Amino acid sequence: MTRARDVAALFESAFGISPSGVWSAPGRVNLIGEHTDYTGGFVMPLAIEQRAFVAARPRADRVVRAVASGHEPRSISLDEVGLGRPDGWLAYLAGAAWVAERSPAHDAPGHGWDLALLSDVPVGAGLSSSAAITCATLLAMSDLDDWPEGRQELARWAQRVEHEVAGIPCGIMDQTASLQCTSGHVLFLDTRSQELVQVPWPASDTGFALLVTNTRAPHMLVDGQYADRRRMCEEATSIMAVPSLRDATLSDLDAAMQRLSDEQAACARHVITENARVLATRALLESGRAMEIGPELTASHASLRDDFRVTVPQLDCAVEAALAAGARGARMTGGGFGGCTIALVDRTSAEAVAHVIDAAFADAGFTAPEHFVAVPSEGAHRE
Ligand code: ADP
Ligand code: MG
Repeated sequence: MTRARDVAALFESAFGISPSGVWSAPGRVNLIGEHTDYTGGFVMPLAIEQRAFVAARPRADRVVRAVASGHEPRSISLDEVGLGRPDGWLAYLAGAAWVAERSPAHDAPGHGWDLALLSDVPVGAGLSSSAAITCATLLAMSDLDDWPEGRQELARWAQRVEHEVAGIPCGIMDQTASLQCTSGHVLFLDTRSQELVQVPWPASDTGFALLVTNTRAPHMLVDGQYADRRRMCEEATSIMAVPSLRDATLSDLDAAMQRLSDEQAACARHVITENARVLATRALLESGRAMEIGPELTASHASLRDDFRVTVPQLDCAVEAALAAGARGARMTGGGFGGCTIALVDRTSAEAVAHVIDAAFADAGFTAPEHFVAVPSEGAHRE
């Protein structure tokens, strides 16, 4: 609650008036199902304890004014918003109001907002700080203006903010996780039907933990590489003549091998095998065999490293060190090219595993990583 009070105080000192309320939304880690959410596949994220807090108050005009801790205050009229406008963090906040007024259900032009933002989701670490701030903002606006849309529609709007304002061609996983996760559960999401299933995560007293390591590897060439992998998937889909990679099997892949480039085939193989790993992981969790999901995680990492080629030396190093230290499974999580890894460890050995990763990073001359244990947390809500 104190962060909710802090963001309300930030709002008051910036605007000289109290906010109408405070909302928060979490970042996420993805347990398994990487680079499957833009080809209609399966993902299994969980919300983390780190959250973005947004204090909001409607305005009578069309201006969005915002403050964020550590940044200069900024403002923009809703009439100026568009692709790349505004840039930076304000894109996610102003973009939320802009996307809402483009929805068919909202026929009247929207109004402006005063907003304050405070977040402890690490930025640019693959933990979806951008979805956290967008989803907290959209839920605030939805509650205050009594929008009729449900949470999954808000998730699609948050995705449109990334696509149409921030210019990031992301899938629907991050926004769905931030809005729909519940504490104590991993969220199974079928990104095609948008069917959601809350899959129980074992209680902490069952003795195992999910250790998250932020490698702090600098993101480089990420946008171009992401677009390249998406294109490989699209090309493979059309060459294999399937509605989406979600519908393809390894025998479809074999049959099309002559017509696919090595890169197209490898990307398709990752997506096809990754979807199968998500289903296997869900089945293990649902049958109380959570301890056995480790090999699925480790196989996912190998596939992302060798077939999809989105790991970097820091990600491989963290995974190898965790496994060498006794983790039951480990993988990179998020889009890759930097960001975080997760390792499934015995609760009592989380710290020891973290130390082994630290030592491996020091040996390799990498920047020291940061660690935390992920506790499956509540999705977005009003504070
Ligand atoms: P990720 O979502 O993995 O953290 P992105 O590049 O998608 O990485 O989003 C990071 C961007 O989100 C930042 O560059 C910034 O524009 C915005 N952002 C997220 N959290 C904050 C924050 N606390 N303050 C200001 N901007 C933020
Ligand atoms: Mg993001």
